[in-house]
Amino acid sequence: MDRLLADAATRPLCREDLIALLSLTAPQDVARLRRAAFDLATRTVGDGVYYRGIVEFSNECARNCHYCGIRAGNREVERYCLSHEEVVDCALWAAAMGYGSCVLQSGEKWDDAFVGFVEDCVREIKERSRGPELPDGLGITLSVGEHAPAVYRRFRAAGAHRYLLRIETSNPELFARLHPAAQRFEDRVACLSSLREAGFQVGTGVMIGIPGQTVGDLADDILFFRGQDVDMIGMGPYIVHDQSPMRGLGMMPHDELLSLALNMIAVTRLALPDVNIAATTALQALAPDGREQGIACGANVIMPNLTPQDARRNYQLYEGKPCLDEGREACRVCLQHRVETAGRTVVRNAWGDSRHFARRRPPLD
Ligand code: SF4
Repeated sequence: MDRLLADAATRPLCREDLIALLSLTAPQDVARLRRAAFDLATRTVGDGVYYRGIVEFSNECARNCHYCGIRAGNREVERYCLSHEEVVDCALWAAAMGYGSCVLQSGEKWDDAFVGFVEDCVREIKERSRGPELPDGLGITLSVGEHAPAVYRRFRAAGAHRYLLRIETSNPELFARLHPAAQRFEDRVACLSSLREAGFQVGTGVMIGIPGQTVGDLADDILFFRGQDVDMIGMGPYIVHDQSPMRGLGMMPHDELLSLALNMIAVTRLALPDVNIAATTALQALAPDGREQGIACGANVIMPNLTPQDARRNYQLYEGKPCLDEGREACRVCLQHRVETAGRTVVRNAWGDSRHFARRRPPLD
C-alpha cells in the first residue's frame, strides 16, 4: 500500500495497482489513500476549489438512457425549458457572485432551434459577463450531449471553451446495457475526439456502482480517462431512479457506494494528477457531507446549482437529488462553508481551467 502510494508519484499506475487501491476498505488504508490524493492535488492543482455555477436549462431529451429520470420515455416528469433571458440571468448572477465559470446543461436534442438557442445563450453570456473582474467574461462549459462536429465548432465559436460528455462506463458491454441500441459506445468516443478537434477542454466521467460493474471496470475507466487524455472528470455514484427501467436492479448500499465513489476520486487523482475533478452533487445524495468528502479525496471543482427552484425539482437524473429546496443564494453560502470545512478555499473570479490542458496547449484566446 505505501509502496503503491509512493509509486503513484513516479510512474503511471497499472491496472493491477488501480484495482488494489480501489479495493481498499480498511479504515486506516482508506484514510492514507485519501490523504495522499488530497496532498497530491495541493501540489498539482493548488489548494483552491473552483465554482461552476450550473444552469439545468431544459429537461427535454430525445434520448432514453435506461438509468435516467428525465429520459424521453418517462411520462411522469413535467418538461420545461428556461427562456433565453432566464438562462442569461442565471449566468450573470453567477458572474456577479464571483463564480468565474458556469455550466449550461440539458437533455439532448439536435434540432436547429436547440442548437441556435445554446449558441445564442453562450454568446450573450460571454458578452454581458465581461467586466473588471472578468475581462474575458465567464468561462462557459457546455454539457448538452452528442452532436455533429460542425455543431461543436459552432458552440466553440460562440465562446464556450469546455465541454463535458460523460462516457458513463468505458466497458462497451456495460454501456450497451445502460442504453438503447441506437446509442453506440463508439459514437460517444468519437464525440470526445470531435470536441478535442473543435478546441474544447474535454471532460468525461462515469457512474460508480452500476449493477454488474466490477472494480476492474472502474480501473479500466481510469485507464480510459488517461488514454483519452481528458482535461476534466465528473464522476458520481449510480443512484437508481424509481421511474427508470433499471429500478428492479437495485443499487449498492449507501455506505459501501459512497466509500467506493470516494476511492474512485482519490485513485483517479493519483493516476491523473493535474486534471480538474468535480465533487459531484450525487455524492451529497449519499451523505450530507458527500461533496466535502469528495474534495478531501482530491476533487477541486464544485458546481453550485443556479437552476430556478421550480424547474430544479424536474431535473432529477437520479432519485434523491439534494438541494431541491434551496435557492441559489442559499447554495452559495452553504457551498462556501462546505469547501472551507474540507480545508480548501473558494477561488473567486477565475475560470480555473484544467492545468492538464494548459500543459498540453498554449493559453486559449
Ligand atoms: S442521461 Fe442525458 S441523454 Fe440520457 S436520457 Fe438522461 S438527459 Fe437524456
